[in-house]
Amino acid sequence: MADRELIYLDHNATTPVDPRVFAAMVPFFVEDYGNPASRQHSAGAQASAAVEAARESVAGLLGGHERDIVWTSGATEANNLALKGVASAAAYARRRHLITVVTEHRAVLDPCRGLEERGFEVTRLGVDGEGRLDLDALASALRDETLLVSVMHANNEIGVLHPIGEIGQLCRARGVLFHTDATQSFGKEAIDVEAMGIDLLSLSAHKLYGPKGVGALYVRQRKPRVRCEPLFEGGGHERGVRSGTLNVPGIVGLARAAELAHAEMNPERARLAGLRDAFERDLQAAIGGVSLNGHMGPRLAGTSNLSIQGVDAESLMRRMPGIAASSSSACTSAALQPSHVLGAMGLAREQIDGSLRFSLGRATCAADMQLAVARIAEAVVAEREQGALPACGN
Ligand code: PMP
Repeated sequence: MADRELIYLDHNATTPVDPRVFAAMVPFFVEDYGNPASRQHSAGAQASAAVEAARESVAGLLGGHERDIVWTSGATEANNLALKGVASAAAYARRRHLITVVTEHRAVLDPCRGLEERGFEVTRLGVDGEGRLDLDALASALRDETLLVSVMHANNEIGVLHPIGEIGQLCRARGVLFHTDATQSFGKEAIDVEAMGIDLLSLSAHKLYGPKGVGALYVRQRKPRVRCEPLFEGGGHERGVRSGTLNVPGIVGLARAAELAHAEMNPERARLAGLRDAFERDLQAAIGGVSLNGHMGPRLAGTSNLSIQGVDAESLMRRMPGIAASSSSACTSAALQPSHVLGAMGLAREQIDGSLRFSLGRATCAADMQLAVARIAEAVVAEREQGALPACGN
């Protein structure tokens, strides 16, 4: 079990399953264990009914239709399915150009690189010093042979929200498909696929108090009907787009989590924004040399990314085991890779190495945040006095 003393401020990495979500999932493990593809008997029919109710619910929350929802194992799969599935569709054979943004998650950037190796051309748009996209640059990058634009809704590192409604309208006007990775925003910000002109949208349950290993891809079936080839072959589930026996408890949990998040969205957003603003203000008052990263305008309520002068974020985290945050450098094998997001915003290497992301969530309260400020300030003083702690282990 997680340390009770731990102040968990890493909700953008993952969230605990809400007990109400867990309760909704439980019957589907032991009692209602049927395979939704086996509708000939009541066990299968019951499982199928639960999956279809979940589909209707998730589709409704997005402003879409049930048949637009394809269940996946999470957002990594949903992004891969969106990009590679559309790129492989024969109907679009003449469209060989894609547009994305340098600050996207690797689950978008890496499939784009794979498509380049298959002969597609990819335009990667840059961002300004605050992580914002220039819509004029996007508009001028659109070509007649552009197949798809993929721009995330909320950035996972800095929380900045891209204006997906405007991007969707731009794409619609040029007859280009629009995909958005809404992994970090679904359940936190209102999304309407019709009003926003979204053709494909990725989401994941574990970022909104649902279980890990389940997500969905919204694939528009009308006006226009988006063609999407499967990533792998099998029993032809999900209208042939995603084979494999469905994760019934996971899907039920995803839908319940999404319903709860939407029902509580507005007050929770206001509450988190208040806690986040106070945290940023108090931390800046407690220690000098703190700069906030990312645009302060439209951004996720619970996300704070900041650079602390004179500290190494990895070392700082080792000095404060009572705080779960995230450094912007992802550890891949033995090497630390500086954040590609902060790098694209033009931050210097020292600012990136001294940056941390704090992401607040449903259980976070004002007392937690006050204690977090005290613990961070103490660790920063020690770090500045004593220099970086060596990495333990490797
Ligand atoms: N996209 C974004 C923006 C994310 O933050 C994440 C999770 N870090 C993913 C995609 C991948 O999601 P999943 O863990 O469901 O594969």
